[in-house]
Amino acid sequence: MTLNIGVIGTGAIGRDHIRRCSQVLQGSRVVAVNDINRDSAAKVVSELKLDAKVYDNAHDLISSPDVQAVLVTSWGPSHEEFVLAAIAAGKPVFCEKPLAVTARGCKNIVDAEAKHGKRLVQVGFMRPYDQGYRALKQVLTSGQIGEPLMLHCAHRNPRVGEAYTTDMAITDTLIHELDVLRWLLDDDYVSVQVVFPRKSSKALPHLRDPQVVLMETAKGTRIDVEIFVNCQYGYDIQCEVVGETGIAKLPEPSAVQMRSGAKLSTEILVDWKDRFIGAYDVELQAFINDVQAGKLTGPSAWDGFAAAVAADACIAAQTSGEVVPVTLPARPGFYGK
Ligand code: NAP
Repeated sequence: MTLNIGVIGTGAIGRDHIRRCSQVLQGSRVVAVNDINRDSAAKVVSELKLDAKVYDNAHDLISSPDVQAVLVTSWGPSHEEFVLAAIAAGKPVFCEKPLAVTARGCKNIVDAEAKHGKRLVQVGFMRPYDQGYRALKQVLTSGQIGEPLMLHCAHRNPRVGEAYTTDMAITDTLIHELDVLRWLLDDDYVSVQVVFPRKSSKALPHLRDPQVVLMETAKGTRIDVEIFVNCQYGYDIQCEVVGETGIAKLPEPSAVQMRSGAKLSTEILVDWKDRFIGAYDVELQAFINDVQAGKLTGPSAWDGFAAAVAADACIAAQTSGEVVPVTLPARPGFYGK
């Protein structure tokens, strides 16, 4: 069976996911597209030679009988409205992060999905689908390094534009760690603190960069995440787990090792799209397969909500400098243990 997908938002990641669904992955085709800028949607249809209808209104796309599943890749503040509409229509929906721009918005989605009675939402957190993180989780689950005690992580980008603000280091950057580390440890955060080292001269005046986020989980694991978005040298994701009997480290992406000019070197990637290209393919293929099997298993609306609650606490901690509690309500049984 081929799954007929409708895509809302044909910007950078929307175009990339449309290419994926129509050219790379198995079992899906894009039959409908919408963007607030109609020309952008029409351009994607013609560039990718899609047999797809351009909708002027996202709600008409969602309710169309031609559309069996919805991809929401528009800008963040529009996600909640479209995901709620997909749930109301009883259609599976893959929503890019953030699920909603506030924890309250995420909770509205959790409540609507629980009321519907069946999982319909997958959030576009792709790191749990990355080969390296999966290998790391396998080591932790096997017990080879004992219980995890501490994590040392880094999220570094070469540089960011003028529109990037200090709180976006949490909502746009750290948000991926907030999701993947919960998944990796099978644990929830209980408190966060943010400290600011000496500011880099490469950061624009309005931006505090780098910053270090310190987190504690319910089981007592301590996590430090360095966010440094003007590091200049490349896009670099690090994660080292210190366990009771050993240390496990996220593998580096594979790269050719060179001996040249009296140096031994390997290249470092500079673009996040290249670093996680495999993970994006696997996450969307999993969504397509799960929809066809009638049971979603990827990052849930609850995961989107939990990440948003932790992000809110981090933003409060940026301002106060204090340790801020992360308070999650009890997880509805609907989302498993
Ligand atoms: P983008 O290039 O700005 O694309 C967003 C598109 O949505 C634009 O074409 C925009 O049109 C359109 N849009 C805005 N409001 C809309 C509405 N109400 N209805 C329909 N279309 C609307 O942004 P992007 O980089 O693709 O990011 C899109 C989302 O994906 C964001 O939430 C972002 O955080 C997420 N994302 C996730 C990852 C990841 O690693 N998982 C990576 C990149 C992006 P205009 O340009 O005319 O406003």
